[in-house]
Amino acid sequence: MGCIVQKYGGTSVGSVERIQNVAQRVARTVAAGNRVAVVVSAMGDTTDELMAMAKQITPYPSARELAMLLSTGEQVSIALLAMALQTLGCDAMAFTGSQAGVVTDGVPCNARIAAFNANRVKEALAAGNVAVVAGFQGAAACGEINTLGRGGSDTTAVALAAAIGADSCEIYTDVDGVYTIDPRVVPEARKLVEITYDEMLELASLGANVLHPRSVECAKEHGVIIHVRSSFHEEIGTLVKEDTAMEKGTVIRGIACDEGQVKFAVLGVPDKPGVAARIFSAIGQAGVNVDLIVQSIRREGENDILFTVAGEEYEKVHAVLEPLVQELGARRLQHQRGLAKISVVGAGMIDNTGVAAGMFQALANAGVNIEIISTSEIKISCLISDEGLIAAAQAIHAYFKLHEDVCYPE
Ligand code: ADP
Ligand code: ASP
Ligand code: MG
Repeated sequence: MGCIVQKYGGTSVGSVERIQNVAQRVARTVAAGNRVAVVVSAMGDTTDELMAMAKQITPYPSARELAMLLSTGEQVSIALLAMALQTLGCDAMAFTGSQAGVVTDGVPCNARIAAFNANRVKEALAAGNVAVVAGFQGAAACGEINTLGRGGSDTTAVALAAAIGADSCEIYTDVDGVYTIDPRVVPEARKLVEITYDEMLELASLGANVLHPRSVECAKEHGVIIHVRSSFHEEIGTLVKEDTAMEKGTVIRGIACDEGQVKFAVLGVPDKPGVAARIFSAIGQAGVNVDLIVQSIRREGENDILFTVAGEEYEKVHAVLEPLVQELGARRLQHQRGLAKISVVGAGMIDNTGVAAGMFQALANAGVNIEIISTSEIKISCLISDEGLIAAAQAIHAYFKLHEDVCYPE
């Protein structure tokens, strides 16, 4: 008897009818002789709607109460799916994250899973039930409800698969698998048969929201193979795994886009030790993740420090930097909104030259200006304007011929 974890995202459970369709798919998997644990997201745009309601009350809701509010979305889905399964004659039990044994690290809205004590889920499965578990949530050791960050239900699913030793972890979503780029941005995008953990982690961290980055980290750590596939048909999707036998010759695996970034520039900071540490530790203490960082070449004992953060963090960063600029004796603080990051990712870059030149050429051909460049072993990112993003994505995708099927080795 196989043990399978299936995760269904917001669109896949977006209405009562869709929940009933999911129940039928789960029931078929049970009828085929498997034990099944299901992780579900909140229905449709529920999480966005809950967030919007909070923002109507205050622009700065307390993180503790926000986690309390957002976690309710998933609770609706588990109850309805368990009922739909029972109606089909399939025994099912719904569990909140905390009841399922998800112990979080105490960060209210961006918690990590510290432990998964899955005994109750295992018992429910052993007794012949489908265990229906709320994604995206858990409780800290002290009992506080935490959420795992947007898209975090994927991480619940992978962590559950590791905790119960499942044979497979299937992530059902509204696309057919992982594509070379978001198919909503570039319709010529090609579905990948397989992708490595490292490449998927880079793509997810750089903005490809088809998988939550921590779900890929967790899968790599525990050796869980993820199968990303559509909840609307039976076709095979994309396998995310350690090594890929196929597509070995590919230099670039995919492109990720991340819109709505804001760039801050602290101009004319004194060139002495400790200045960068002061700036970035203050931003870190405000709980903001900094993305690209550039320090300009020193001139007359001064530097310019530039960095980017997600657009919604603008107020927090501005509030931290304004007094600090005065204190450090910097000349000026500037910011620019409406920026996007576009990144190419591929393990093949390690042994192949010319990828950076190709990317810059493609951007030049599309008439897109580059603000900041950043590279690592398997990725190159460029900061560009939001308006240029689609043209840039299409140009880079076409330049590297990512729409073409590669020849698999014999
Ligand atoms: P779910 O609610 O099922 O978790 P998400 O909206 O979180 O779904 O993720 C699926 C979406 O991810 C797709 O609809 C697609 O627009 C987007 N996406 C971004 N990059 C990619 C990619 N490389 N391949 C496939 N989908 C992608
Ligand atoms: N419902 C949460 C969100 O919209 C978690 C998830 O769907 O994975 O971010
Ligand atoms: Mg998602």
